[in-house]
Amino acid sequence: MLPKIKRKSLLYKSGVEYADYCINHIEGCSHGCKFPCYAMIMKKRCGRIKDYNDWIKPKLVANALELLNDELPRLKDKIKVVHLCFTTDPFMCKQPEVASLTLKIIERLNQENIKCMVLTKGIYPTRLADVKKYGENNEYGITLISLNENFKKGMEPYAASYAKRVKSLRFLHEKGLKTWISMEPYPTPNLVEQNLPEILQEISFADRIIFGKLNYNVKSTQFVGSRDFYQEHADMVKNFCKDNGIEYHIKYGTQKKDSKRTEKNFGKENQIRRLGGILPVPI
Ligand code: SF4
Repeated sequence: MLPKIKRKSLLYKSGVEYADYCINHIEGCSHGCKFPCYAMIMKKRCGRIKDYNDWIKPKLVANALELLNDELPRLKDKIKVVHLCFTTDPFMCKQPEVASLTLKIIERLNQENIKCMVLTKGIYPTRLADVKKYGENNEYGITLISLNENFKKGMEPYAASYAKRVKSLRFLHEKGLKTWISMEPYPTPNLVEQNLPEILQEISFADRIIFGKLNYNVKSTQFVGSRDFYQEHADMVKNFCKDNGIEYHIKYGTQKKDSKRTEKNFGKENQIRRLGGILPVPI
């Protein structure tokens, strides 16, 4: 059994353009990513966890459903989309208690006709395809920045293999559900040599791709020519998406010049506001 904590509130405003509210119903994350994980840095900074070993032992928010039931009557007409999750992973591998709570939260939100945007480095339970229970408007995403499983072992040691993530997402796509890919934080070649078109081909079934650069990583900042590298790769993503009828979004700061829309939504003022307590990027 996972350790439990209690919180005073659950739903909060996210500050990102694709989901106006967010839920983080777990503290910590057993996927233990080493980019490093920005959520872990923030929790350490505010004294909620001691170190990496503390971070990879997740604690469940025991009163999450109770809080959701209390907050929904007041907020349900204001909320358009809820993102799960910014500071943890809703389908951590080998954590059935996490998956069970996440499914109950999605079901509860869908009962109020609130759409969920879900993002994981784990594996989606096939029962999400039951649209009578979970609704058909949710969007399910995986983070996929490589197909190199050795790189995954070093960077995302306890997350699902890339192959299993793609397989579980493809299953939901084949059941008619909307799927998306967070290709972020995309690594520079001094971390892993890889072929972006090959990765894009593997996930060409997705409805949307979000591409963003790697931040907060010493080795990546040492890569000479990273601005050109990210511009070229952002262009590859854009061209691939246009050719294949896939929606796309290039994250703020990835290109040499951001689009006006990205600048408006993810510009300095917004970044600072989100850094006040929430992540600047979905992870
Ligand atoms: S899956 Fe996300 S929250 Fe979990 S450790 Fe990795 S980056 Fe952090």
